[in-house]
Amino acid sequence: MSEKNRQEENLIIIGGGPGGLSASIYAARNGVAPLVLNGPEPGGQITTTSELENYPGFPEPVGGFELTQKMTEQAENFGVRLEYESAEEVDFSGDKFIVKTEAGEYIADSIIIATGAEPKTLGLDKEDSLRGNGVSYCATCDAAFFRNKEVAIVGGGDTALWESTFLAKFAEKVYILHRRDKFRGAKILGDRVKAKENIEILWDTEVKSIKGEKKLEGLRIFNNKTNEERDLDVDGLFVAIGHHPRTECLNGQIELDDYGYIVTDKKQHTNVPGVFACGDVQDPDYRQVVIAAGSGAKAAIEASEYIEEKENAFPAKEVKMKNMDQESDSEEKAAGEKEEGSLNLSLSLD
Ligand code: NAP
Repeated sequence: MSEKNRQEENLIIIGGGPGGLSASIYAARNGVAPLVLNGPEPGGQITTTSELENYPGFPEPVGGFELTQKMTEQAENFGVRLEYESAEEVDFSGDKFIVKTEAGEYIADSIIIATGAEPKTLGLDKEDSLRGNGVSYCATCDAAFFRNKEVAIVGGGDTALWESTFLAKFAEKVYILHRRDKFRGAKILGDRVKAKENIEILWDTEVKSIKGEKKLEGLRIFNNKTNEERDLDVDGLFVAIGHHPRTECLNGQIELDDYGYIVTDKKQHTNVPGVFACGDVQDPDYRQVVIAAGSGAKAAIEASEYIEEKENAFPAKEVKMKNMDQESDSEEKAAGEKEEGSLNLSLSLD
């Protein structure tokens, strides 16, 4: 802990999901040794996704947890240091940036914020326990698992409208359950939804309860104007009522949009020079792993350039790549032999 008092770093990446890990890999490859504050449960949203079918390079579906593990392993191979700590408070007012965690305090030349966004939940019984078994928060990720089935989606914003048309390509029938009698989302998306034969809109409708124990077996819904209740026989419930970008630790020091997402330019710069953001915390529109990873790469390239050009940057830390250590450290060599067949990287810093 005392060592951590004001530990000096060139680059701190806050968040260890796909955006943060991708940023860390790119930074390390650029010769900047990043420190990732991973949080107590690393991996971000993706770890709650049962399987991804649309991440390039994986012809067979890959589990969200497994993909995070591979990204983490890849980052560690490139010498990325990961701390299982959360940023609790930051101070971006000076030329150097301060990040406080429970364990201590870091001071850095540059920061990448990759804290992600959590889907808002309905707060129903079984909503959490059946997540991945009929309850989903991402149609782009999970629609294909509901081919020729009946599903319901809750929400009336752009996300719900866009996702319901996507779901309608797979599902036999899609019910949109909206708590009001008017959509919040764009008219063009609403018109598109209304034109789809296999989408039925249930206005003024909310979910009362979820049926099923091991998997979702239906919903009990009610009309909030008439209080009329009925069962809805669906195999899936998609919740699309907005996201909550994780910006609590920023304490108003970074510009956010009306929905609470960090405002970035095309190169992932925030309004504070030297502070960058990537992944879902700055992406209200797509929230996809591949896009988070892409924006992480951009943020790292920009941060590396920023640090390189900074006049009073801390001395660069050595990027200690795993296979280089293995040559000099016999213990790690043995560990490496155990992992034989996993990764055999030829690394260079160019
Ligand atoms: P949103 O615009 O905040 O809409 C959330 C919807 O969920 C609203 O219709 C709201 O109902 C409903 N809702 C909220 N809490 C609820 C609850 N507890 N129970 C039932 N319904 C509830 O969120 P979003 O649709 O995720 O959009 C967020 C941002 O992303 C927006 O800026 C949007 O434009 C952007 N986006 C853009 C695209 C695109 O194609 N460009 C796609 C997706 C998202 P009320 O209407 O009654 O409040």
